[in-house]
Amino acid sequence: MDIRIQDLTMRFDNITAVNHLSTTIKDGELVSLLGPSGCGKSTTLMLLSGLYKPTSGRIYFGNQNVTELDAEKRQVGMVFQNYALYPHLSVLKNIMFPLKMKKMNKIEAREQATEMAELLHIGHLLNRKPGQLSGGQQQRVAIARALVKKPNVLLLDEPLSNLDARLRLEMREEIRRIQQEVGITAVFVTHDQEEALSISDRVMIMNNGVLQQDSEPQQMYKKPANEFVASFLGNPPINFITVERHRQNEHYKIKHTAQPIHLSRLKHFDRTTLKMGIRPESLFVTTQNNSLFRGDIIHIETIGRDTLIRVDLGESTVRALVDPKKKLQIGDVCFLGAEEEEIHYFSSETGERLK
Ligand code: ATP
Repeated sequence: MDIRIQDLTMRFDNITAVNHLSTTIKDGELVSLLGPSGCGKSTTLMLLSGLYKPTSGRIYFGNQNVTELDAEKRQVGMVFQNYALYPHLSVLKNIMFPLKMKKMNKIEAREQATEMAELLHIGHLLNRKPGQLSGGQQQRVAIARALVKKPNVLLLDEPLSNLDARLRLEMREEIRRIQQEVGITAVFVTHDQEEALSISDRVMIMNNGVLQQDSEPQQMYKKPANEFVASFLGNPPINFITVERHRQNEHYKIKHTAQPIHLSRLKHFDRTTLKMGIRPESLFVTTQNNSLFRGDIIHIETIGRDTLIRVDLGESTVRALVDPKKKLQIGDVCFLGAEEEEIHYFSSETGERLK
């Protein structure tokens, strides 16, 4: 079932937690809500669940306007960070619980709960109590319980936060598998960019209640809509370099330095200053002839397979992930290059992407 969100706003006293949010989530899609703490992700999810009613705006599930509909009537499945299982009930009884509430007969409820447990690979744990399960297993029970009543949409609020790194990876693959097998429309809240980019059909990045970008994961990484999105995604973070136009001619230089920047795309921008964004992995060590920047290496570290260097360009410093085979030393003068299509340009006034 698709979800349409139209001009949704939620205010708490003087805080606007969600600010004029509009989007459509297609049937069967998994969409992540991503952003820093306090950006309005959970509030958006609570609005979708019906636990909160918006200050203004509308929500449709399919053709039904559910904006004023109470949570129980919306047929949503919810999964939380803390699992929220009933500790005194067995796994089977936990999964059967929503069916019992629906007054389904016991035999049928048991059958459906067992089937769902098989799908979640917890069929062998039905008699255990939640306290006898690992975190990953508990989260599987919570997902089975959310799905057993065949909801219209599945809402997940940071479901992997309490798991260790290895289990997180395993469970995020599992959530994607199950979501696709069931074919359910899902909204997944996370502040972890890797999680969001890896499992979603689409990612929505929010900041201060405002939707910043709504696109496919790769597109978001390759074409960030503004400076916020560019800086939020990527680790080590993207480099920003402010450049300014020479007074007399078309050439740009790094702000407050004499270092010229020769890039053909810069000619298209009729501005006195702008910000260039270049990801560390887009920079490479090169020769003076085809370099973009010249600077002194001030820091070198090895991270995994790569070498991360920090280069002082004068007014700004940049980080570059470079070939570990290059013999580099702190204090060396270094020339850095980048492919033009991997350079992003942003307005220095608004932070919006330029072209
Ligand atoms: P986190 O990742 O920390 O959970 P979030 O992105 O989910 O953050 P929300 O919980 O949606 O953010 O909060 C958005 C803003 O609304 C925050 O400034 C928060 O303090 C505020 N807020 C959320 N719920 C309430 C509430 N019940 N009453 C008052 N303010 C609230």
